[in-house]
Amino acid sequence: MSSAEKYRALKGMRDVLPPDIYVWQKIEGIASGLFASYGFSEVRTPVAEATGLFTRGIGEGTDIVDKEMYTFEDKGGRSISLRPEGTASVVRSYIEHQLHTLPSPQKFYYAGPMFRYERPQSGRFRQFYQIGVEAFGSSSPALDAEVISMLRHFLQRLGLDQLVVQVNSIGCAACRPGYTGTLISFLGERQGELCPDCQRRHAQNPLRILDCKVPQCIALRQGAPKVMDHLCADCRQHMELLQHLLTGLEIPFVLNHEMVRGLDYYTRTVFEVTSGDLGAQNAVAAGGRYDRLVSECGGPDVPAFGFAVGMERITELVKKTLPAVHPAPSAFLALLGAQALYEGLRIADRLRTAGIWTETGDHTASLKSQMRKADRVAAAFVIIIGDDELAAGEFRWKKLADGTGGSAPFSALSSFFCGCS
Ligand code: ATP
Ligand code: MG
Repeated sequence: MSSAEKYRALKGMRDVLPPDIYVWQKIEGIASGLFASYGFSEVRTPVAEATGLFTRGIGEGTDIVDKEMYTFEDKGGRSISLRPEGTASVVRSYIEHQLHTLPSPQKFYYAGPMFRYERPQSGRFRQFYQIGVEAFGSSSPALDAEVISMLRHFLQRLGLDQLVVQVNSIGCAACRPGYTGTLISFLGERQGELCPDCQRRHAQNPLRILDCKVPQCIALRQGAPKVMDHLCADCRQHMELLQHLLTGLEIPFVLNHEMVRGLDYYTRTVFEVTSGDLGAQNAVAAGGRYDRLVSECGGPDVPAFGFAVGMERITELVKKTLPAVHPAPSAFLALLGAQALYEGLRIADRLRTAGIWTETGDHTASLKSQMRKADRVAAAFVIIIGDDELAAGEFRWKKLADGTGGSAPFSALSSFFCGCS
């Protein structure tokens, strides 16, 4: 390789650098604090799994499995995929470690990168980050309501309260086949006019035709029967109680009978949170109930509910509402000479262990150039330490914001910074 060759991040993958990283850390901090108060513990699963887990869990015929997976053979000839979403991995872990033997519900959250080979565009990346939660072991709509409420509080704490929660029920194994039959008869002869993707969906998972954004498919499904009108008594009751509880929790929601989500594993409740401020990729969070996934992945019959939030999309929104964070050092030690370097490093050490962000200047440079440097890094205070100061036992200080200054004994240095670290 020639030395002139430049490496760049892969298409659809990017670095998160300061100051953006402070926004990310703030979001992650709010998530872990809030989720803990709902009893959710963090889990970290590997970013790669056996491909079969995803084809089985997410479902063949879904866009994710058919078109978007990063799949490769490892050196032992095994088919491995980078995780395109978090739920299948958490379910695998739940089963592998027999977590169903612990008291229910078991509640987990995760934060980390997901990988999908999609066309990169605004709000759509090939490596993107999700914060997600999964709660196992309750089929009550109370769980759906609590988890949706937790998501709303999370978004509210981030200053995002202009978001819409859309809810739907897509039924269960008992009532969904009847509904999809009705949908297929409704489309009748006109199914041949559907887009090529929907022709495929028509055979594999007709429900997903409802979600297609192609204009001809939107036109063809005008007046189509609504899944909500074909739910079995149990699913209807689940949906009614959920709406009642969401109202009680003061969560504004709209019923969207066309929302079905792109993953096969959902049963009953599906929901999505969208923002008017994001353009085409407007979904910031999505999730629902998946009562059969644990058993379909080889575990016991355990119902579950979860959601995932797209980090890139919420940071985009959070950046519009929160003032930008530009952390800067509290102290910049201007060090004049070799003795000042020796004492200066000891002082910096003390300040740092007291939690005060301290930078040190180049002891061979002039005071003027060290002051310039302090200014560039936007330090709050410059502490000047030279032979004279060391002899007198007092440092000189200067506050860069207003140019005020003075001197004080070295013994008072830590307390000098109290309240400004
Ligand atoms: P979309 O309709 O935007 O493709 P999805 O239905 O594929 O979303 P989920 O699999 O439910 O999304 O993932 C949950 C959230 O993760 C989405 O609401 C979105 O915020 C985010 N997300 C999904 N795919 C991407 C991507 N390629 N880049 C960035 N964020 C993404
Ligand atoms: Mg998608």
